[in-house]
Amino acid sequence: MMEITGTGIGQGVAVGPVVRMAERLPEPVDRPSHLDPEREGERARASLSVVGAELAARGAKAGGAAKDVLEAQAMMAEDPSLIEAVTTRLATGATAERAVFEAFATYRELLAGMGGYLGERAADLDDISQRVIAHLLKLPAPGVPDPGHPFILVARDLAPADTATLDLDKVLGLITVDGGPTSHTAILAREKSIVAVVGAADAAGLADGDTVVVEAARGVVTSGPTPEQIAAAKAAIAERAAQTAVAPTPGALADGTAVPLLANLGSTDGAAEAIRLGAEGVGLFRTEFLFLDADAAPSVREQQAQYTRLLTAFAGRKVVVRVLDAGADKPLSFLNDAPEENPALGLRGIRALRHSEAILREQLTALAAADAATDAELWVMAPMIATVDETRYFTSLAKELGIRVAGVMVETPSAALIAGRVLGACDFASIGTNDLTQYTMAADRLLGTVAALQNPWHPAVLRLIAEVGAAGAELGKPVGICGEAAADPLLAVVLVGLGATSLSMSPSALADVRASLARYSLSDAQALAQAALAAEGAAEARAAADAAATDITSAREAAS
Ligand code: PEP
Ligand code: MG
Repeated sequence: MMEITGTGIGQGVAVGPVVRMAERLPEPVDRPSHLDPEREGERARASLSVVGAELAARGAKAGGAAKDVLEAQAMMAEDPSLIEAVTTRLATGATAERAVFEAFATYRELLAGMGGYLGERAADLDDISQRVIAHLLKLPAPGVPDPGHPFILVARDLAPADTATLDLDKVLGLITVDGGPTSHTAILAREKSIVAVVGAADAAGLADGDTVVVEAARGVVTSGPTPEQIAAAKAAIAERAAQTAVAPTPGALADGTAVPLLANLGSTDGAAEAIRLGAEGVGLFRTEFLFLDADAAPSVREQQAQYTRLLTAFAGRKVVVRVLDAGADKPLSFLNDAPEENPALGLRGIRALRHSEAILREQLTALAAADAATDAELWVMAPMIATVDETRYFTSLAKELGIRVAGVMVETPSAALIAGRVLGACDFASIGTNDLTQYTMAADRLLGTVAALQNPWHPAVLRLIAEVGAAGAELGKPVGICGEAAADPLLAVVLVGLGATSLSMSPSALADVRASLARYSLSDAQALAQAALAAEGAAEARAAADAAATDITSAREAAS
């Protein structure tokens, strides 16, 4: 039995066998083959047809949209002109690996240059090329594995597209070696309710088939658990399943103060599940997740259709949509084309949109049109605001284009420090604690090495949140929280004590946060907040809030 620690995402538990995700293959060396071209040709054709057959079989098994995609990939693997391009290279003495690599790379460029739908298929060619080369080298295929049974996925890190397409019937849990608590792997894992531990450096030593127990709340992975530990894990899984089956109530403190609990979403697919889990609306809809793979800005019509779907799913409720937050951890090729040394400090969020105003105008136009056609209550906000000037720029453009409620995300220390002036120029604020923590602590949210600093409990971060809370109260404007901090049940109480008027989180966290809020009154929450604010560091702040919470509950028990 061995314990591996990392950062847990959510509160869930999972148990199962490890399957490792194979790493991307290096480029095959360009050296002359010692086999003759005919023999290399046989090798290449054999691997291409095995991969083609595998993809077709996976497609047939998957059904639905995945079937079409996989069948198209299977056809590409056996495309005669590609096979001819491979053969031409073999004739010059190349190895099958190198010939496949080069032929696919040339086609990839060709497709990418065409843009649109064909351009989007370029990445598929990469995937097939990697699979064929892996087959030639007798190595496991890169990408998310499909062993045909449920498993715990162990990876160095996942690309957003990998995380977004994980088959939740198969992936019981996720362990990554890299990645901080607010990396997009972590956020998507939370959104999809995948039990995950990220930044678990020692997980690099886990082997295929090892049985592990993943406990997200403790951030611990137990390798080689005892039968008792496995039984305890299974009991915890059953208990959580029973808990979420109870009909949810609106978020409120013990004294009845309403704290609307909203959902963070990255696509409309999760809408029904969010409502089932008691989301009272959407507090953060991350629009850039709709377009991660797109090479060109989506059209107004296409966007309008997406937003209409979202607003229809939440009819009669509040939906806060964020305009594209491109750059740094979520680059979009059509908004971030120039390489930057420090992209987190570069042209991201509102800065990138201001630079390409036509794209922002189109997005706001699509949102206003969707709003007019549906009866949800649409609020729109801009990410990465640092100045009052940016706030004015965004709100006036939003209003000009027909958005009724326009606000900003507070994600930079500067916006928090002048929150009164920022809020004076817009309708509401929503605090993005992931970025606010990254920028306050000067700790890249993507780096496992500085993950310990990426902790929203730090009193410096809490003080900035308190500034925004106070400004909101003074001006009578809503201050939501939509960073991962809102999903931590104890921190959620502290955030309300600091002045947050609503909390938005991955739907999977709603039940735990709802239960936690119901234990404290507003003055209790303020006492917890004061205790945390006065602490020296993040760990001390959590301990102080915890101690204050224990005092409150024991005093109440003694009185009753
Ligand atoms: C945040 O920064 O806290 C936030 C909610 O935005 P994102 O995580 O998408 O950057
Ligand atoms: Mg952010």
